[in-house]
Amino acid sequence: MTIPANSATLSASSLRTGRLPEQGLDRDAILAELHALREKDVRWHDGRTFSLVYHVSDDHTELLRQAHAVFFSENALNPGAFGSLRQLETQVIAMACDLLGGGPDAVGSMTSGGTESILMAVKTYRDRARARSPERFIDGPPEIITPTTVHPAFDKAGHYLGVKILHVPVGPDFRVDVAAVQAAITPRTIALVGSAPAYPQGVVEPIEALSDLALAHGLGLHVDACVGGFFLPFARELGHPIPPFDFRVPGVTSISADLHKYGFAAKGASTILYRDGDLRRFQFFVYTDWPGGIMASTTMAGTRPGGPIAAAWAAMMSLGRSGYLRNADLVMRTTARFLAGIRAIPGLRVLGEPAIGVFAFTADELEIFAIADAMETRGWHIDRQQRPDCIHLMINPNHAAIVDEYLRDLADSVAFVRAHPELGSQGQAAMYGLLARLPERGQVAELVLQHFDGIYRP
Ligand SMILES: *Cc1c(COP(=O)(O)O)cnc(C)c1O
Repeated sequence: MTIPANSATLSASSLRTGRLPEQGLDRDAILAELHALREKDVRWHDGRTFSLVYHVSDDHTELLRQAHAVFFSENALNPGAFGSLRQLETQVIAMACDLLGGGPDAVGSMTSGGTESILMAVKTYRDRARARSPERFIDGPPEIITPTTVHPAFDKAGHYLGVKILHVPVGPDFRVDVAAVQAAITPRTIALVGSAPAYPQGVVEPIEALSDLALAHGLGLHVDACVGGFFLPFARELGHPIPPFDFRVPGVTSISADLHKYGFAAKGASTILYRDGDLRRFQFFVYTDWPGGIMASTTMAGTRPGGPIAAAWAAMMSLGRSGYLRNADLVMRTTARFLAGIRAIPGLRVLGEPAIGVFAFTADELEIFAIADAMETRGWHIDRQQRPDCIHLMINPNHAAIVDEYLRDLADSVAFVRAHPELGSQGQAAMYGLLARLPERGQVAELVLQHFDGIYRP
């Protein structure tokens, strides 16, 4: 049999058959198609989105790409074969621990993202508790107490790992009610969680009060600093009032901090840090009886891509303290312009006291989701939240250029919705309002599952 060479051209139909092309396609055509597909996505580069992509500059991104490419093929699964990646990872972790007040015993691992870091923390506390006192869990699963605003990665981890995640309400300032946390502690509680800051309103939880509780009850305390870990230390250094949240607080036993958010690394990079190795050991997995050899791994993954590790190391080395300070300053100044502009528009209200460039606002008499729709028709990609209904923003250096345009469009959108109150019960606004308020949450989940099933078909 002769195997045909690659064809020089790419027919549009060959992209959409759902089968391997008979002949391999021309590289230029493949790359052109990828670029064309991307054209239809949200315009994050122009600052039109407020989540999903963290961007410093094209120059920085180019460094990340190049560093990523150097370790494109390498596999961090085997630290013996790739001592390079082990060295890069331990350096990244050392820098992260140093930044977050870790002592000489602090350790950690790099993971693929905040969700994996949180999965690892939940597994670690579960396995430590089971090893120490299995009799506590005869009548029910281990429990972790979180605020309602905690990232759902905890619920996902609990779901996967058989740990019950309790949600304690937050107060009017969106900080958790510490007395309610105390009241929720049972003999099966294994850890408490506080966010620094929480994603929905960007407020830092009362970590010191949670620490007192954790120490008094002999519990772990995980701080979810996925969004703030590589930002809060610099904001504090710039003089912003950042409450204590890291290993300097004595009861904090672990921290998750994402490199691929304000660490300005390439995607697929986060850290899970522990006060000491005695705790981290419960994160590791070893299986000794496989015919393929003894299998040991630090995190969820088997094969681990080297690119994100190298790119994260390169980001930290390239930005240095001065670079992170400069970016934090720009984000804080840009955020201050957003907050002042939003507060100056009658009818809008910023929720809580956001600590960094992560915040939300609502409208008291107008339908906020109709305002979101009006913003989208003006070319902005808007993140909507529920309980309470609001619009969420996460500020990046590239938003400095669009603040005035955003605020102008926001004022126009508010005026438009004020003149057309019926919009609140139409289109997207009506759908988001319905999903936020349907009392039967199982029905909402079913709708979402059906939607997912539909969109993930060829
Ligand atoms: C983003 C985020 C996470 C989850 O991180 P991923 O990298 O998206 O998996 C967890 N907690 C907080 C506070 C976050 O902002």
